[in-house]
Amino acid sequence: MSPQNTSQPGHNPEPSDLALVPFVSVDHMMSLVHRVGIERFLLELSEYIESDFKRWELFDKTPRIASHSKEGVIELMPTSDGEDYGFKYVNGHPKNTKEGLQTVTAFGLLADVATGYPVLLTEMTVLTALRTAATSATVAKHLAPKGSRTMAMIGNGAQSEFQAFAFRAICGVDKLRLYDIDPRATEKVVRNLSGLGFDIVACGSPEESMEGAEIITTCTADKQLATILTDNMVGNGVHINAVGGDCPGKTELHKDILLRSEIFVEFPPQTRVEGEIQQLPGDHPVTEMWRVMSGEAPGRTSAGQITLFDSVGFAIEDFSALRYVRDKLKDGDEFILLDMLADPDDPRDLFGMLQRAKG
Ligand code: NAD
Repeated sequence: MSPQNTSQPGHNPEPSDLALVPFVSVDHMMSLVHRVGIERFLLELSEYIESDFKRWELFDKTPRIASHSKEGVIELMPTSDGEDYGFKYVNGHPKNTKEGLQTVTAFGLLADVATGYPVLLTEMTVLTALRTAATSATVAKHLAPKGSRTMAMIGNGAQSEFQAFAFRAICGVDKLRLYDIDPRATEKVVRNLSGLGFDIVACGSPEESMEGAEIITTCTADKQLATILTDNMVGNGVHINAVGGDCPGKTELHKDILLRSEIFVEFPPQTRVEGEIQQLPGDHPVTEMWRVMSGEAPGRTSAGQITLFDSVGFAIEDFSALRYVRDKLKDGDEFILLDMLADPDDPRDLFGMLQRAKG
C-alpha cells in the first residue's frame, strides 16, 4: 500500500510534514516483514537491540508502569536516549485466548526529543513477538553452549514461531522439540513451520521435550506461580530462556532451578518484581545483559553451568524495534500518514484554526 494522507483538506489545508505522522497498521507491519524477510528482519533487529544494550547507560530507565487486575495487566513502557523517545502500550491477559482474543496486544510511538513531535505510530503486537524473539536469541548468542542446535520449546502459543525463527537466524538452532498442555497449540506450530527447514519433534511431556536440548525456552501464559520446570528436569550445562514469567505472581520455574543457575536479566528493578527472581531475596546476585554485551561482565564461564535469561521484556527493546521500523520505512511504503497533530498557520492561534473549520 502506498503512503496516503488521511488529513481533512479544508480544515487545515496544508499540514506540514512534521504534523503528519506515519502510522504502521498490522497489515503494513506484515508487508514490511515479508518485504524484508522474517529472518533478515530478526537479524537486523538483533543488531539494533545489541547496539542499544551497548549504550545502556545513556537511556532514561524506569520499571514499566503496570495496572494490574484479576484477569491481567496493562502496561506502559517508556524510555529515551536523549534524541528519540519511545513508549509501548501492552497488555497481558492469559485468559483471553479462551475467548478468541490475544494474550498480548500492543502499539507504540516514537517521538523526536527536540520537538516532542511523534515521528511514528505503529502496531506492536507482531512487533513485540519479533522483538521478544530477537532479544531472547541475541542473549542466547552470548550465553548458550557454543554450537547449540536443539531447543525445547514449552508453551507453543503466539510467540513460539517467532522464537524458532530468531534462534535459527541468530544462533543456528534448527532442531525444535515442542510441548504444550494443549496439543492443538503444538499442532499449530508444527503446521506453521513444516517445510521450512526445521527438524521438529512434537513431544508428549515437558521432560521428553528437553531430551538432548542445549536450550530450553519456556513461553507459557498463566496468571499464577506455575512450575513448568522442576529442578530434577534440568540438566547441567543448558541455557534456559524463560519468557513467560513476566508479572508479579506469574512465574514458570521452580525456585531450586534459580538457585543452581547463573541468572542474567534486563533491568534489575523491573525483573526483581516481575521475573522468576521475584521468588528470591532482593539481593540475590544477577548479571545485567548489557554488561555482558559490552564485555564488562562474563557470560557463560563453564560448560557445566546453567545460564538463565530471566526475560520480562524491557522498554529499550521496544525502543530498538521502533527505531528499526522507522529506519526501514525510509526505503519502503508500509504506512499511511495520519493527521494526528494540530498544525495551525500561527502556532498560537489554535482556536482560530478550530473556528475556521466550522465553515
Ligand atoms: P499464548 O497464550 O498465545 O500462549 C501460551 C501457551 O502456553 C498456550 O498455548 C498454553 O496452552 C500454554 N501453556 C499454559 N500453561 C502451560 C503449561 N503448564 N505447560 C505447557 N504449556 C502451557 O501466549 P503468548 O503470546 O505466546 O505469550 C506467552 C507468554 O510470554 C505470556 O506469559 C506472555 O505474557 C509472555 N511474554 C513475555 C515477553 C517478554 O518479553 N518476556 C514478551 C511477550 C510475551
